[in-house]
Amino acid sequence: MKNNKNILAIDIGGTKIASGIVELGKDSYQIYDYQKIETPKSKEGVIQKLIELIVYYEKNSGFDRVGVATLGRIDRKRGIVIKAANIKGWENVNLKKIIKEAAGKNVEIDNDVKCFALAENKFGKSKKYQDAIYLAIGTGIGGAIKVGGELYRGADNIAGEFGHMIITSGGKKCGCGNRGCWQQYASGKAIEKLYYEFYGNKKKAKDIATDSIKGIKQDKKVIKKSASYLAIGLVNIINTVNPEIIIVGGSVVKQKEILDLAVKEVIKKALIPGRKTKIVRSDLGDEATLIGAAMLEEK
Ligand SMILES: [Zn+2]
Repeated sequence: MKNNKNILAIDIGGTKIASGIVELGKDSYQIYDYQKIETPKSKEGVIQKLIELIVYYEKNSGFDRVGVATLGRIDRKRGIVIKAANIKGWENVNLKKIIKEAAGKNVEIDNDVKCFALAENKFGKSKKYQDAIYLAIGTGIGGAIKVGGELYRGADNIAGEFGHMIITSGGKKCGCGNRGCWQQYASGKAIEKLYYEFYGNKKKAKDIATDSIKGIKQDKKVIKKSASYLAIGLVNIINTVNPEIIIVGGSVVKQKEILDLAVKEVIKKALIPGRKTKIVRSDLGDEATLIGAAMLEEK
């Protein structure tokens, strides 16, 4: 039987790399030695950090296998990152090979939101639902789809890339090369950009969210606008997929306000199916992706 105790899980995001030793139980999980560091800006920098983490965990806790969640389009079988919009040069990286060589253990790799969905499906609010959508709204917007109880991956394992739904023709430029993608309007980065466009100075998305709740008008205006963009994407999803539940995680929804505002708009805009779809925040929070990485099975 597979050992579910000492799994080194790593979650490579656009701004942070999280890691920890995960123990998986039937209905519960534990994370030991959790760490969070800034994501280096270059591909080489990220690889260097990953190797340092492996050396650290090998020395301090030891582990039996490795599960890695990363942003981007992933060839799961070969363990290759094909392309990612949020880390420079994070494409055609044979991550499985690199980590396997450093760790000397079995390694499984998948897209970060797919991992988030796996964990939510087992331990989170969508457990009892057959059809669910998962959204991770942070630096960008990632998504995953569960249909009939199973993760739906599509032909190239990229089903659920809702962040690249084009919501406005000729709109803002996206890292994917297109214009008008949803993530250019409703992600953390988009909130910061909008603030800059409105007022000409820089402010962190989390500070904008906090000040909006405090009632500061300037910030509230930005959050309201971003929430209306968030709603557009949610309505598109509801009207095309008609899920029972949409689970939303990621740094942007850490503060409830923006999602609450978006949901109010969704109720106004969505067609009949929207009335049935629940939109809720993830309970598992940041840890979900890490847990999902630990859950990855051999392909
Ligand atoms: Zn895009």
